[in-house]
Amino acid sequence: MAEWEAVIGLEVHAHLKTRTKMFCRCALEYGAAENTHTCPVCLAHPGALPVANERAIEHTIKLGLALGCEIAEHAVFARKNYFYPDLPKGYQISQYESPLCGPGRFVIPTAGGDEVVGIVRAHLEEDAAKTVHAGGATGRSVGADYSLVDFNRGGTPLIEIVSEPDLRSADEALRYLRLLRQTIVELGVSDAEMEKGTMRADVNVSVRERGEEGYRPRWELKNMNSFTFIGHGIEAAVREQIAAYERGETIEQSTYDYDADTDRLTVHRSKEEADDYRYFPEPDLVPVEPPAELVERLRAELPEGPGVRIRRLEQAVGFDVAYALVTTERDALYSGLVADGVEPRLAANWVMNEFAATGQDPAAVNVAEMAAVLKTPNLTRDALAAATAAATSASFASSDYTSQTAVSDESELEPAIDRVLAANPQQVETYRGGKEGVLGFLVGQVMKETGGKADPKVVNRLLREKLQG
Ligand SMILES: [Zn+2]
Repeated sequence: MAEWEAVIGLEVHAHLKTRTKMFCRCALEYGAAENTHTCPVCLAHPGALPVANERAIEHTIKLGLALGCEIAEHAVFARKNYFYPDLPKGYQISQYESPLCGPGRFVIPTAGGDEVVGIVRAHLEEDAAKTVHAGGATGRSVGADYSLVDFNRGGTPLIEIVSEPDLRSADEALRYLRLLRQTIVELGVSDAEMEKGTMRADVNVSVRERGEEGYRPRWELKNMNSFTFIGHGIEAAVREQIAAYERGETIEQSTYDYDADTDRLTVHRSKEEADDYRYFPEPDLVPVEPPAELVERLRAELPEGPGVRIRRLEQAVGFDVAYALVTTERDALYSGLVADGVEPRLAANWVMNEFAATGQDPAAVNVAEMAAVLKTPNLTRDALAAATAAATSASFASSDYTSQTAVSDESELEPAIDRVLAANPQQVETYRGGKEGVLGFLVGQVMKETGGKADPKVVNRLLREKLQG
């Protein structure tokens, strides 16, 4: 049987964080009452003219630079023509032959070395309005009683990042997506929240025999809006395509919907080709020609990217922990604690376990006070738990917790141990008879006797000594 490999490329869309829409002055506001942010431009009244949003252009250049892209000296907006009720102009303003950001290389750190994903382009466009289908069972147009359009979203600046088909598994695709999302968020150009619809992805999947050159027809999974579904959707597409080829069938290039409930793909429509959209340069907008000084200023302002930080943190805590810290946006907290003298593994452990479990905002932690707590020797579990719970509160002070250190002083522990041994002669007998498992019970009794403040290691040692004596 042939050995197959997946060939995956992603088109990621993210809403850019700007005050106003891409080509008009309407405010961008999520959750605003329907159709309250509209004007003649975004409703396509005759004669209304678009003006490009400068901030959106800067955001796109910034992201392009972070993805290692060439920034065009001359970029052109183009009309992408198609009809849809939520596209009042009958075309979307996008970029086609001359995008703002050209080819690039995005480096993804993995435990086994760097993976490079080619970026075909990153371009700027406007989003369509939002159609809401009412009635019917599926919330889709088929079977709906009626549909309404909310034009608030129409004209939202959108960046589209197109990758080369360089990804070879669902895991690789998700790694790319997570790091891309993290990069976008850190640059401050988008919230990129899949649940809110400010980031979504079209996923192109095909398979080929290992060693085969070129690409076979692909399936495009449209508008995927969760990491989990993207992973499952890719796996379903790969599985179904391999099965089809092994039955001797052919695959046609099509668009698919992934149904998370059934884990199955259903054909949406056969794929349009670029020619179908009759792209042509937008006559109402001048080309974008970013000055070299602007590009260089934005390049100089780029923060250290998440991939680079993973590599830096990896040396102290290992790849997996470094990756988890960065992709959950907790590495700044970790680095703050380490800078305040907390041992790196202890800091990472606390951040990713005790602290993460509380669901608190890492940016709100009082780092200096928390570092003081973590540096306290023999801190009791209870004191650490209490400090963790309070770490983001305004009145958090380490001194409230650091006094509760574990008792390891033998002269303090001995009376408690003697009391426990005297009260449990049966267990002492059992232990001396060779059943050492009973020691755990006795340690527990001492912990109880001391209100949980005893250092269990010391109790363990003292108990053994006394029982042998
Ligand atoms: Zn408008």
